[in-house]
Amino acid sequence: MLSNVVLLQCRTISMQEYPTVVVLDLDYTIWPCWCDTHVSMPFKPLSKSRVRDKYGEELSLYPEVESIILELADQGITVVGASRTATPKVAKELLSLFHVGGKPAIKYFSSLQWGQGSKTKHIMKAAKELNLEDELRDGEFILFDDESRNKDVETIGCKFAYLPSQTVGLSRKHFEKGINEWSTWRGRKKN
Ligand SMILES: [Mg+2]
Repeated sequence: MLSNVVLLQCRTISMQEYPTVVVLDLDYTIWPCWCDTHVSMPFKPLSKSRVRDKYGEELSLYPEVESIILELADQGITVVGASRTATPKVAKELLSLFHVGGKPAIKYFSSLQWGQGSKTKHIMKAAKELNLEDELRDGEFILFDDESRNKDVETIGCKFAYLPSQTVGLSRKHFEKGINEWSTWRGRKKN
């Protein structure tokens, strides 16, 4: 029979470590479209997880995004949105219409950053806004994104987690892979 001490150790080892901040790209990371070109306002909500656009195009979050955002909220992880979209208004509307755990998804984001150019700018701005600049320097940020050009965020201390499939976007498999890779990367950074 395992002693309580061993059981406690097992539990500690199996506990998932998370970064302080998870940054999510939006287009082809949490939903399967470019919101500045593929869909048009106004949107009609068909349910709490599905909308129809002006031309009849229907859109939802990728299927595993809701449970991932709920897990992050449950773990007290700060969630940031970073998008190069030319239409933040459309993105904000979608984030308000899609519900996660019964609440508009937008409520789970502590900061939303927009604009063209490198995502290093988005992330540095969010870190400043949230007073988490030390955490960024210490490797406590991760960005999930479908565009490999955004890997340059690693130059400012944010781990980059590439999402290779526009069909599945941010899936649980890729989320866990990213978090595990972050954990190893941050360990190396510290030593
Ligand atoms: Mg994208």
